[in-house]
Amino acid sequence: MRCPNCGNLQDRVIDSRVSRDGRSIRRRRECVSCRWRFTTYERIEGLVPIIVKRDGRRVPYDRNKIFNGLLLACKKRGIDYETLEKITEKIESEILSLGVKEISTDIIGEKVMEELKKLDDVAYVRFASVYRKFKDASQFVEEIRSLYETPEKTEKKR
Ligand SMILES: [Zn+2]
Repeated sequence: MRCPNCGNLQDRVIDSRVSRDGRSIRRRRECVSCRWRFTTYERIEGLVPIIVKRDGRRVPYDRNKIFNGLLLACKKRGIDYETLEKITEKIESEILSLGVKEISTDIIGEKVMEELKKLDDVAYVRFASVYRKFKDASQFVEEIRSLYETPEKTEKKR
C-alpha cells in the first residue's frame, strides 16, 4: 500500500479485524518509512471461515494468532518481522481461498508448520513440538530426521 503521507510503498500491518459479516477485513497499517498510520479495507471473495478448535469450540478467525504463533516459534532466531508478516499473509490467503465455512485449527497448524519448515529448522521443531504434543521422544526424533530428507520427500502431503 502506498503511504498517504510520504508515498512509500512499504508498510506493516499492526492490527487486522474481520467485519461482523465476515466479508471484509479492516487493517491498521504503519508506514515503515515515516511511521504514519492508516487504515485499509479489503473485500473478501467468499467467506472468512470460522475456526474450529480441537475441543469443538468455534471462534472467529484471527490473523494475529497466526502471526503470534510464528513470532513465538522464531524467538531469538534472527528472523525479521517482515518475513513473518509475509508468511502470515500467505497462510491467510491460502485459508481464505479455500472458500470454506469452517476450518480446523489442525489445518492451520499444518500450514504454519509447512512454512516454518522452509524457514528455520529450530523454529519448526519448536512449533511442531508444542503443536503436535509429541507423545514420546522417538516421534520427536522422527520429526527432526524428516527435516534432513530430500525436499521431494518432505513436501509430500500429510
Ligand atoms: Zn510514509
